[in-house]
Amino acid sequence: MTTPTIERHSFQTETKELLDLMIHAIYSNKDIFLRELISNASDAIDKLKFEALTNPDLPKVDEPCILLIPNPQTQTLTIEDNGIGMSREDVVNLIGTIAKSGTREFMGALKERKQQHGEVSPELIGQFGVGFYSTFMVADQVTLETRKAGEEHGTRWQSAGDGTYTIEPVERASHGTSITLHLKQEDSEDGLHDYTSEWSIKSIVKKYSDFVNYPIQMDVTHTDYDRDEAGKVVEGSAKTSVKRETLNSMKAIWIRPENEVSEDEYKEFYKHISHDWHEPMSWFRMKMEGTFEARALLYIPEKAPQDLYYREGKRGVQLYVKRVFIMDDCKELMPDYLRFIKGVVDSEDLSLNISREILQQNRQIRAIRNRLVKKVLGTLENMATANSAQYLQFWGEFGRVLKEGLYEDRENQEALLGLLQLSSTHSPTELTTLKDYVSRMKPGQDKIYFASGEDRKTIENSPHLEAFRDKGYEVLLLTDPVDEVWTQSVYKFGEFDLQSVGKGTVELGTEEEKKQAEQALEEKGKTYGDLLGAMKGQLSEYVKEVRLSSRLTESPSCLVGNPSDLSPQMEQLLKSMNQPVPESKRILEINPNHPLNQKLQALFAANQQEPALADYSYLLYGQALLAEGSPLPEPAKFSKLMTDLLVKAI
Ligand code: ADP
Ligand code: MG
Repeated sequence: MTTPTIERHSFQTETKELLDLMIHAIYSNKDIFLRELISNASDAIDKLKFEALTNPDLPKVDEPCILLIPNPQTQTLTIEDNGIGMSREDVVNLIGTIAKSGTREFMGALKERKQQHGEVSPELIGQFGVGFYSTFMVADQVTLETRKAGEEHGTRWQSAGDGTYTIEPVERASHGTSITLHLKQEDSEDGLHDYTSEWSIKSIVKKYSDFVNYPIQMDVTHTDYDRDEAGKVVEGSAKTSVKRETLNSMKAIWIRPENEVSEDEYKEFYKHISHDWHEPMSWFRMKMEGTFEARALLYIPEKAPQDLYYREGKRGVQLYVKRVFIMDDCKELMPDYLRFIKGVVDSEDLSLNISREILQQNRQIRAIRNRLVKKVLGTLENMATANSAQYLQFWGEFGRVLKEGLYEDRENQEALLGLLQLSSTHSPTELTTLKDYVSRMKPGQDKIYFASGEDRKTIENSPHLEAFRDKGYEVLLLTDPVDEVWTQSVYKFGEFDLQSVGKGTVELGTEEEKKQAEQALEEKGKTYGDLLGAMKGQLSEYVKEVRLSSRLTESPSCLVGNPSDLSPQMEQLLKSMNQPVPESKRILEINPNHPLNQKLQALFAANQQEPALADYSYLLYGQALLAEGSPLPEPAKFSKLMTDLLVKAI
């Protein structure tokens, strides 16, 4: 019998560079090496199961297992699996080289990043098959022993990550692979933990590999004591025993057949991932197949979290790749306006090392996201029809966030409009959908009208609503700040335009009524024409036009904008966010039938140079501002004029 020969090989250049980076780059999260090795082990068992289906010569996988063997004495950690194993050729090709295309470009990007930022984020390790090399972050020597299922002899591979590796034949009792890491000194400042500690290993497995399909086991030491009659520990009676424990729950409920998962299990899982102690309101599962494969289990919470409106608030969707946890809070999978959705997405095709940067450009992620959004909106739509009480509860918690989608996600605008629940003049308490609003529209009404403001009462008392009330037209009453934003970018619902009652001109009623109103206004215009011009001169600082109104029945005046103007509420909102606000003046409309304006007209007709006209114009303008709940530009001036008038009147 000849002594087995040990061969020494050099790593491929790219592999060497990658190793150098791996060893010297300051990664914050070194724990992920274990995730990588466990996932390789799980893949290897998958492969053997699959191959064994068609190849009767291969051993059956009766008891698949991934075993972790920490040893504090030797400072080693071994990860063992009974999967498919590797041939010598496999080892050279798979472990010694990085054969995958694009590696060179990837390395370039990594190095550039390191030069610019001084460090490389761990996620940027990339989407390439570099998982195995992450072991060199925590080990100064790695030994891999493996035997391919169906083959007789095994192979041992060993490297100190120094540019070379050795390879030699080895005898191995069973097929599969074991990887022994000779661990670097613990350095918690550098994120390097003690990977021989049972506790460390347990928590890393729990965090990253809890749902891996196969048991991840470890021999755990327990200490028991004898106790006396009083229940006290008998000194010197400590007995240690070792028990093999399974560290992961393996309960990836999103891949189990839907009817086999109980309601309680779904709820339990929700609590596990969301840290919410309320029950979820509802959940659903999705399976995507075709050019890519992914599954999702998503939850709609019952209660809005505290941080729903914080920019840095937590999001809810976790990304898994083949049951292995990749990241929390995967913003790329859910648009901002659905940030309250919790759950998991598990892809079969992505790489474990996918980085945030790559996620943002990944077409598959985008495709998954589109499907998820459609499904969420569809689910909400169903809830709205099937269980309106539940939907209203949902709306109360998350409606405001959902409205953000109206301008963030134009592609789904229509679906989102269908989900709206809004206050309106139709009922003092109940909300309405746009569809129901449309069903109540008056003959001749061709627009959906809305009024916005700080609160319902202010809006209801605003002069802008007078003509609408008079004609019995329903008006939506919008009081969320976000309403100001979406109403700027939604122009239509179905065939009907959305129009603010405070903008443009108002034409209500049947064609006949509209024509009559127009004629009447024209007629009045003949009398009022010169006065309007004079008032505009007096108020040029504040308004761009003074005109007669068709929307007032009780009040003497109001302010309106052009359809493209910002509303005063929007202006205030932008100012409060320190955004630049374009200088815009509005139009003062006066009610030709109001006795105040009639008197003013008479005064003006008698003396076009009437000195009081300036003050009266300012008062009318001020009143219009007050009536809609806006602040006065010069409150002291207004107050003084008012007092003077009262003195005269009393
Ligand atoms: P990836 O898993 O993305 O392919 P890795 O660097 O983690 O990249 O692993 C490289 C290859 O080495 C794997 O694709 C697999 O073929 C092989 N391999 C690694 N670990 C094992 C193992 N425990 N059993 C069998 N093959 C393995
Ligand atoms: Mg891998």
